[in-house]
Amino acid sequence: MSPTRPLAVFGGTFDPVHVGHLRAAWEAAEALGAEVFLVPAKVPPHRSQPVASAARRAAMLRAALAGQDRLQLDLRELDRDGPSYTFDTLASFRAQIGVQRPLMLLIGADAFSGLVEWHRWRELFELAHVCILTRPGQIPAVPEDLAAQVAARAAVSAQTLRTTPAGRMFNIAVTALGISATRIRNLLANGGDPRWLVPQALLEDPALLAPYRKFRDPGPASSDSR
Ligand code: ATP
Repeated sequence: MSPTRPLAVFGGTFDPVHVGHLRAAWEAAEALGAEVFLVPAKVPPHRSQPVASAARRAAMLRAALAGQDRLQLDLRELDRDGPSYTFDTLASFRAQIGVQRPLMLLIGADAFSGLVEWHRWRELFELAHVCILTRPGQIPAVPEDLAAQVAARAAVSAQTLRTTPAGRMFNIAVTALGISATRIRNLLANGGDPRWLVPQALLEDPALLAPYRKFRDPGPASSDSR
């Protein structure tokens, strides 16, 4: 880890990781000048549990991230028992990097609109900046409580985030890629081929996507609080 560059955390279930995750994380790394860590959840709180095991989801991420060093894999949530709360993860990164280095939480706009259900959500701002990955022209609909935080904490530029350790909010417009893990799981369950929706490395090792080939999603995933 570099001691001065902002560090950004992109958490998720990654069941499986797909090109929508990777492209959004890549563009955020560029926009923020940050070192980005993808952090798979062991036990995502308040949503259906992943189909693939934590070890396999980590293996898919490892394969996906090979050959570049802008996005990195961090497995600290897999070492903790109980729900994988983002608050605990950010506290752990903060303890590691000290109080001065900018820390950023990256969240897709869909997940962000449910932030008020997350464990200790108000305290997340004491630990990190919150960056919302939005599609161009899309303003996420948020409850009143969260809208007040957005208004009070909005930063005008990425530079503001780079010069303070935590507490601001920022929108990053990323390329709109209408890909979800749910769609990929359903495609695989129905015998489809997710070519060019997932990184090529996932297709090259047939074992990686095997758990999904037997699985049919029962319906929309529940809310994405963590
Ligand atoms: P599922 O369909 O199982 O709910 P998902 O594709 O939304 O999965 P997650 O692992 O739950 O993936 O998401 C991790 C993070 O990535 C969340 O912040 C989510 O908003 C964001 N994300 C997911 N898909 C995209 C996408 N296509 N573009 C930008 N961000 C995305």
